[in-house]
Amino acid sequence: MLNGIKEFNGYHANGHANGKTAHVEAQIDKTEAKEAIETAVRAILTNVGENPDREGLLGTPDRIARMYDEILAGYATDPIKLVNNALFDVDYDDPVIVKEIEYFSMCEHHMLPFFGRAHIAYIPSDKVIGLSKIPRIVEMFARRLQVQERMTRQIAEMIDEVLQPQGVAVVLEGSHMCSMMRGVKKEHPKMMTSTMLGKYKEDRELRREFMDQLRK
Ligand code: ZN
Repeated sequence: MLNGIKEFNGYHANGHANGKTAHVEAQIDKTEAKEAIETAVRAILTNVGENPDREGLLGTPDRIARMYDEILAGYATDPIKLVNNALFDVDYDDPVIVKEIEYFSMCEHHMLPFFGRAHIAYIPSDKVIGLSKIPRIVEMFARRLQVQERMTRQIAEMIDEVLQPQGVAVVLEGSHMCSMMRGVKKEHPKMMTSTMLGKYKEDRELRREFMDQLRK
């Protein structure tokens, strides 16, 4: 049943057609990768007019390399392990709603953060997933270089694949540092994205019910 979700790992799930698979990705030498990132950060520092050897910046390449390892850890998360042992058979077919899931991601166009809340609903067919797993699914996709639209769809598709529910609804709100820092305007509109699958796509009333829940 879980075979289909392998594709949610690593580069593959990001829609890259460069032939890299989760398998190849797993073989990246961590030490080599860290050194390469440190070299690159030093080059950035030098080329924006800084002195990478001054005291305050000496540890910066190392800190940034370790930080990327953490905030981009979603490539290495195994989606099968993530949901294993957390699927339960139930006789319940009303919507399950999990809202206000905080996430932090990185925009792939500028490598600056975007962050906000994810709201998720699904209508079970015969299975539900442990409550703690839904934020972990969000986190797996957030900790990558992303665009908000794709992240929204990936979360919905993974829940759809794992639970085969009657419907899935995913709404993400996001504040994007790349527009907040660079714009001159004081207002910072939030971007809203949504993916509706199954009954949520077909049934307007269900969609409205979910959106009403979010306003509470
Ligand atoms: Zn951006």
